[in-house]
Amino acid sequence: MSSADGRPGPPGKGRPTVAVVGAGVTGLAAAWELAAHPPPGEPAPRVVVLEAGARPGGKIVAAELGGGPVDGGADAFVARAPAGVELCRELGLDGELQAPAANRALVWTRGRLRPLPQGLVLGVPSDLVGLARSGAVSARGLARAALDLVLPPTAIPAGGDMAVGALVAARFGREVQERVVDPLLGGIHAGRSERLSLAATAPQLAAALARHRSLLVGLRREGAPQPGAGPVFLSLAGGLDRLVTRLVGELRARGVELRPACPVQALERSPDGRGWTLRTPGGTVAADAVVVAVPAPVAAGLIGAVAPSAAAELAAIEHASVALVLLAYAAGDVGRPLDGSGFLVPRVDGRLMTACSWYTSKWPGRRPAGEVVLRVSVGRWGQDPMALGDTEIVARVGRELTQAMGIAAPPAASAVMRWPEAFPQYTVGHLDRVARIEVGVAAVPGLGLAGAALRGVGVPACIEQGRQAARRVQAQLAPAGAA
Ligand SMILES: Cc1cc2nc3c(=O)[nH]c(=O)nc-3n(C[C@H](O)[C@H](O)[C@H](O)COP(=O)(O)OP(=O)(O)OC[C@H]3O[C@@H](n4cnc5c(N)ncnc54)[C@H](O)[C@@H]3O)c2cc1C
Repeated sequence: MSSADGRPGPPGKGRPTVAVVGAGVTGLAAAWELAAHPPPGEPAPRVVVLEAGARPGGKIVAAELGGGPVDGGADAFVARAPAGVELCRELGLDGELQAPAANRALVWTRGRLRPLPQGLVLGVPSDLVGLARSGAVSARGLARAALDLVLPPTAIPAGGDMAVGALVAARFGREVQERVVDPLLGGIHAGRSERLSLAATAPQLAAALARHRSLLVGLRREGAPQPGAGPVFLSLAGGLDRLVTRLVGELRARGVELRPACPVQALERSPDGRGWTLRTPGGTVAADAVVVAVPAPVAAGLIGAVAPSAAAELAAIEHASVALVLLAYAAGDVGRPLDGSGFLVPRVDGRLMTACSWYTSKWPGRRPAGEVVLRVSVGRWGQDPMALGDTEIVARVGRELTQAMGIAAPPAASAVMRWPEAFPQYTVGHLDRVARIEVGVAAVPGLGLAGAALRGVGVPACIEQGRQAARRVQAQLAPAGAA
C-alpha cells in the first residue's frame, strides 16, 4: 500500500490509492467511477484528484456576466449519448435535466440569417426540399446537391477514412460543404470539415454510404432524426456547472480528496516499480494507479517517460483555440425576434464570429426578465483569436451583431472567456492514432488515460472515457487485503 504526501498510509493491509490528474468532467467521472462503483465485494480505493486550476470542472464553468452566472464553456450535452443522462441519474439530478426552449438554428450566410435546412444529419442534408427552403445555398448549389441522387457511389478509401468535407463536396458540391456542413460539423470541433476525419466525427455518413449509393437517401432512411424522438440536447436547471458542483459534493461525501491549485508536474514510477510518484509544487503524491485526464499536450508531457510512443502520438494531435464572448443586452436593443437557438457562420462568409448562441432563448428564466444574453464563439482551426485583446474582440463581434441581428446599442455587460488549445482536431486517421495511443498506455500497468482528445469531445463522450479508464485501472489494482 502506498501513502500520499509522505504521510504514512493506514497500517497493514488497506485500500490502494488511485490518483486522478485533472478535474475536468473526464477526471471527475473517473473519480466517480472509482469511488461509487468498486468491484462487487471490494471497498472503493482511496481517490485523490489533483487539479491545476483553482476550481474543478475544466471546460464546464459558470462565468460571471453582469452580476449573474452564464455557462462560460459547454452549456449542454447530447441526450442521445447515454453517459451524460446516466451520470445525472446516478447523481440524483434527473429531475433537473432541462431541454433547451428553442431548437431552431439559423445560419448567417449569403447576406442574412436563414433557417438551417430541416433534416440535417451532422449538417449533411437528408432532404432537398428542406435545403431549398432554407436558402442557405444558391439555386446552382441546390442543383449540384441534387446530383447526389444520380452520381455513382463514392468509394471510401481502404483504411476506412477520409475527410468529411471531401466526401460531402463529392456528393453535394462545395456550397453545401462550405455553407452548411462546415459551420455545423466544423463548429462542433472548431475545425474545418475538409480536415476532419469521417470515421471519428461522422461515422453515420460512412454507414449510410455503405448501404446506399446516394448519401441523401441513405441518411433519410437511416440517419435522419425521427419526429418525437425527444430532445437532442440537455442541460441542468441553472447551468451545466450544476453537474460539476453535484459531482464534487458527492465525491467529497465519499471521501475523495480533491486538491485544486495542485498541478502535476511529473509522473514517475515508484522506485519499487509497482506504483507511482506524482510531483506537484506542494510535494509528492504516491499512488498505486493513475488516471491522466488532462488535455493532450499536458498528458503527453506527463506520460512521456513511461509511454514515449503514446506521448509522441498525443503531442501530435493539433488543437484549435476559441474565445467565447458573453454579451448582455436590454431586450429592447435587439432588432429582431429571437425565434431560435442562435446561428452559425460559415467560414467562407469571412466573419470573425463562428456562431452566436441565443442563451436566454435557449434557457429562459436563468437571467433577469428583459435581458438578452448572447454567447458568441470566435476562432477555429487556422484562425486563432488569442492574439486579439478583449476590447477588440467585443468591438468586432458587436459590429457583426449589428449587421446580423440589428443590435445597435453596446452591450450592458460583456465578458470574454478564452479557451486556448481547447479543441482537439480529429483529423483523418485519428482513430488509428488513438488505437496506437491506447496500445502504448495499456502496456504500462496502473496507467489510465482519458479525455476529449481521444474518443469524443462532447461531455457524454468525456464522461464515458473517464469511467472506462477508471474501470481499467481498477481492474489492475490488487484486491484489498492482497497488498
Ligand atoms: C467554449 C466551449 C464550449 C463547449 N461546448 C460544449 C457543449 O455545449 N457540449 C459539449 O458536449 N461539449 C462542449 N465543449 C467540449 C467539452 O466541454 C470538453 O470537451 C470537455 O468538457 C473536456 O473535458 P476534459 O475533462 O476532458 O478536459 P478539461 O475540461 O480541459 O479538463 C482538464 C482539466 O485538467 C486540468 N489540468 C491541466 N493540466 C494539469 C496538470 N498538469 N495537473 C493537474 N490538472 C491539470 C485543467 O485545469 C482542467 O481542469 C465545449 C468546449 C468549449 C471550450
